[in-house]
Amino acid sequence: MQIWERRSKVSVGKSGIGGCGVFACLALGREEVVDQVVGTVITDPDYSSRTCIDLGQSLSLETTSPFRYLNHACDPNCEFFQWDEPRDPPQVWLQTVRPINAGEELTIDYAWHADAAIRCFCGSPACRGWIVDSRELHLLDGVQS
Ligand SMILES: [Zn+2]
Repeated sequence: MQIWERRSKVSVGKSGIGGCGVFACLALGREEVVDQVVGTVITDPDYSSRTCIDLGQSLSLETTSPFRYLNHACDPNCEFFQWDEPRDPPQVWLQTVRPINAGEELTIDYAWHADAAIRCFCGSPACRGWIVDSRELHLLDGVQS
């Protein structure tokens, strides 16, 4: 049994990428669990929004603060994961993919489908130019914003 530290590891603030963002309150290690991503589970196969997570089986998680403010980056420092044993309803958690400094903004790869892609201004040297699943980037060849 693991004892979770309940002090929040993140806070919401003004982002250099755009709008609000989620920032580390303390230094985080590689593959460190940040917190559970909470929100409202929606049972509707047609549901879609810019802040929901596809849980599979026609379920979506409409996230609430702080993680609804996670910005996209093409070279993100965090990712969502689910525990190996199934939970009902499914749970989504956020973990780091590399060490993060206190005060650094947390980002994930939205990996949107090409038909939902918008221009990306994340500023990463690895920026794809679009907020899109890297496997669908080729579908945007020749598309003007
Ligand atoms: Zn980018």
